[in-house]
Parts: sequence; C-alpha cells; structure tokens
Amino acid sequence: MSPLAQSRIVKKSSQTELAVLKLIQMNPATSRVELSTLSGLSSAAITGVIAGLVQKDFLVEERVVAKMIGRKRVALSLRPSLGCVIGIDLGTFNLRIVVTDLNGEILASRQEETEMSRGREGVLQRCFTLIRETLVCAKVKCSDVLGIGVAFSGVIDVQKGTILSYPRLGQVEQWRNVPLKQIIEAEFGVPCLLEDSVRAVATSEKYLGAGQGLKDFVYVDVGMGVGASIFINGQIYRGFNGSAGEFGHMTVDEDGPLCCCGSSGCLEALATCTTIIEAVQAAIEKGVPSKTLELAGADRAAITIEIIAQAAEENDSLAYRALTEAASHIGAAAADLVNLLNPQAIIFGGALFRAAPVLMLEQVRRVVRHRAMEKSANDVSLLVSPLLSDAGSRGMARLVAANLVETIYLQN
Ligand SMILES: [Zn+2]
Repeated sequence: MSPLAQSRIVKKSSQTELAVLKLIQMNPATSRVELSTLSGLSSAAITGVIAGLVQKDFLVEERVVAKMIGRKRVALSLRPSLGCVIGIDLGTFNLRIVVTDLNGEILASRQEETEMSRGREGVLQRCFTLIRETLVCAKVKCSDVLGIGVAFSGVIDVQKGTILSYPRLGQVEQWRNVPLKQIIEAEFGVPCLLEDSVRAVATSEKYLGAGQGLKDFVYVDVGMGVGASIFINGQIYRGFNGSAGEFGHMTVDEDGPLCCCGSSGCLEALATCTTIIEAVQAAIEKGVPSKTLELAGADRAAITIEIIAQAAEENDSLAYRALTEAASHIGAAAADLVNLLNPQAIIFGGALFRAAPVLMLEQVRRVVRHRAMEKSANDVSLLVSPLLSDAGSRGMARLVAANLVETIYLQN
C-alpha cells in the first residue's frame, strides 16, 4: 500500500473515532450495542473503534445493571480526568454556576442572587469570585478547566460572544455591547461560549429531560419572559442570523398591551409570571377578593407565582382565572407552532410551568387541540419539563463540553 493510501485510511479511522467519541459524550454511560445503533456502524466496527479509544485513554468502562433487562452491561463514558467545564446561568435574579466533567457529571454547584444593582462590573467581578469558590468546592484546579459556557437572557451575538442588549428596566445601558466571551477568556484563559439562556435550558431538556430521544421538538420557556428553542433533526435551529425562537414576540392579540420589543399584543406582554402577578395585584387593588393576599401575609407586593398557583389549587377564582387566561394565550401561540412545524413534542418549562404544571398544561392542551390542525394536533405530545432551575447552567456545561471534544481528541 502506498504511503498516501495508508495516510488516507488513518485519517478516515480518526474521523470515525472522533464521531464515536462525540456520540459517547452526548450519551454518557452508553453501551457498544447502543453505539452501534446510534452510529450505524456494525458491532464489529464499534468494538474496534472502542478498543482504539480505550487504548488512547479517552474512555472508562464500567459494569452497570441495565435498566430494562436487569442484566449487567458495560457502560462507556469519557474519562473524567480529561478535564472539567463550567456552566453559568447569568439570570436577571439568580446566578447559577456548575462545575462538571465532560460527561455532565456535577462536581459542585452554586446559586446566589445575581444582584444586578451592582452594575455590570460588580456583577462580573462577583461572578468570577464565585466561580473560583465553586472550583475549590469541586476540588478542581483552574488548570483542569477546559472551557466556560455562559447563558444570558438578553439579545446576544453567539458568533462574536457579545451581549448586544438587555431590555430589563434599569439595566439597558449597563449591558449594551458587552464582549462577554472576550472578558471571560481574558480572566480565565480558556475558551468561552456565550449562548441564549433558553437554548441552554433546551439543551438540558434534550440530554437530561423530556427531550431525550426526540429529534423534532420545541422547548418553550415561560418565566419573567417567554422564549423558545426549536430542534430540527436533533439540532438547534438558529435561523438566518441566529435569532430564531422569539416565541414570546408572536402576536396573540393585535390590540393587546405594549410589549418591551416595541410591538403590542405579543405573547410576552400577556403571559409571563410578571403579567400574571400584576393582573392579580391589580384585581385585588380594585377589591376583588382572593386567597392570594392571605397567603402572602396580607402584603400585596409579596404575591408570587407560587402563591397564585397554590391559591388556584385551593379554588381561588381570581388566581385560577389569571393562570388559565395566560395558558390560553400560550396555547394559541403553541397551536401556531404545531401548524407551522409539525413537531413531535412541545415541552414547556420555566418558573410558570414549574409552579402550576397540571393546571397550565391542561389548559394549553385544550386550546391546542381546539385550534391546531387535527392531524398535527393529534400527533404532538405536550409535556412539562421535569428539570429544575439549574437546567440553564447544566445545559451550558453540556454545550461547552460538546464543543471541546474535537480539540481534546486532536490534542491527546
Ligand atoms: Zn414583543
């Protein structure tokens, strides 16, 4: 065989090894049989590739009891000592940090209030301190960190890693055109990935939540804002310039209230935790009786979405009405998604669906069944996310780890 032909074969085998390594990173604790199905390679070929990866020290093998059949099988994962990643969810109210290995195994995590009132510089410096403290908790040296991912809920340029704007009251000037990726890379000396917070949560949904095994689905997040992430054939769909998924700014009422985007009647202006709380508070101010006031210790300003959910469960008609009205708006917009994209599933997450999962989902289902075209409506699964509020930081850690696999493979 000529040296050129030989080098071509080596190159092809490296590509296969890298592809299998990526599959294992995405599906930790996977078996050879599962890998054969996922990759389309024969079991003999997979056995050969795995032998090569084990020999190069990329993988660990562990005997575990298989869930379905109760028999022991060998599970393959990336070797934890290859390095760690940090996932950060820099939210309006909470700052969440997680340190994981490349398989997504959590080594330490931390949650604090973001305290946006400190201003950008104050928030970032405190964030850096908390990152270093979390690394100490995880017993991880700074030099073992391979990458950092940050989820942010403002308008961002993913390619450049820049925060373009942050349409939150009092924060607009502080967070305009901030090169966050560059700032973090200068501070920690490792690659940084900046991503939209809903896409970070949706990534968790795909790997850890209700999206496991799904290829075409939409994740809808409703909290202080409304966002969505669209998965087509297993990949996040970003659109022409990266801004796909602005589900919160779909018009549900042309004559509706003004939205922060400048338009009016957007879903986000009608159905978020904030609009629900404000609607309940306004009704109480007008004298409408409600158990929410009692649950909030007679302090109208202390009413939360959790209190409203609890009151609705206890048959408080004001709380029930506020939630079902919001759910109807979300359902109407979701019906449009069903008609437009014909997804396998829509998964609803975020603070609103965490607070009142059953009530919200029932109403959304009713509206979607009523409004969407019959065939798509019958086939779509409408689900509530099982994940907790750390889904954003964990999703970022997974995204960063996935981005690093190729570099790690080429370096080792
Ligand atoms: Zn809008």
